[in-house]
Amino acid sequence: MMNHTEFVEKCENCLRDNGLEQFCDAATLEKLCRMVDNMLLVNASMNLTAITDEEEIIVKHLADSLSAAAYIPHGAKVLDVGCGGGFPSLPLAIARPDLDMTALDSTAKKTQYVASAAQLLGLSNLKTLTGRAEELAMEPQYREKFDLVIARAVASLPVLCELCIPFVKIGGQMVAMKARLDESEATNAPARLGASPFERHAFELKSSRETDRRLLLVSRKLASTPREYPRPYAKIKKRPL
Ligand code: SAH
Repeated sequence: MMNHTEFVEKCENCLRDNGLEQFCDAATLEKLCRMVDNMLLVNASMNLTAITDEEEIIVKHLADSLSAAAYIPHGAKVLDVGCGGGFPSLPLAIARPDLDMTALDSTAKKTQYVASAAQLLGLSNLKTLTGRAEELAMEPQYREKFDLVIARAVASLPVLCELCIPFVKIGGQMVAMKARLDESEATNAPARLGASPFERHAFELKSSRETDRRLLLVSRKLASTPREYPRPYAKIKKRPL
């Protein structure tokens, strides 16, 4: 395992290489480092991440999560659908104290971990929500209540749209973080759910070892989502929009 100084230095270099120098202040780097230390500790007894090499964590979890920051308006109320081990919500809440972040997952163990990490790091801008996205989106207190809904590695794009767009306020946005887009993911789900077609923003995630291609897909909510969406999960999967 790297020592603290080494981690902070590697993290700073990586963020700079990826155009994320605005997040390289000492306090942010320190919190990112503590977040990873804690995650690896907890990961020994529960499955939070398959990536355990710290250099890889810096690129694939931290830099990748923070790449979305440029698309999130100042002060936005943000929902991370399927946050798992807290990506992208934890790094974004650390680097962007202006955001009002909610991390949602159906697995209580995952949201409990994210909540404890937020407490450990003193992140007062991050709360958690436990439950299925398709059920919570039907509740008036969550439906069309977020400025921006983001998700990474949760489901295919048509399924993801139905899980995310109902939470977005009119005028707000959905952001899908993907490594690639398969042909089978072509969808007019955004239109059915009241949102614009996706704008694609391709970028490269650089590390000293390799360069990975990434895609951020952004859709804007134009009208209210019809009340029949999201459907029960079995239907979403069986007949994706
Ligand atoms: N976003 C994280 C985790 C991805 S794994 C990352 O990029 O590392 C996908 C996560 O989505 C899992 O933790 C799973 O529990 C959650 N998930 C899948 N479908 C869901 C649903 N319908 N509602 C809520 N959470 C869901």
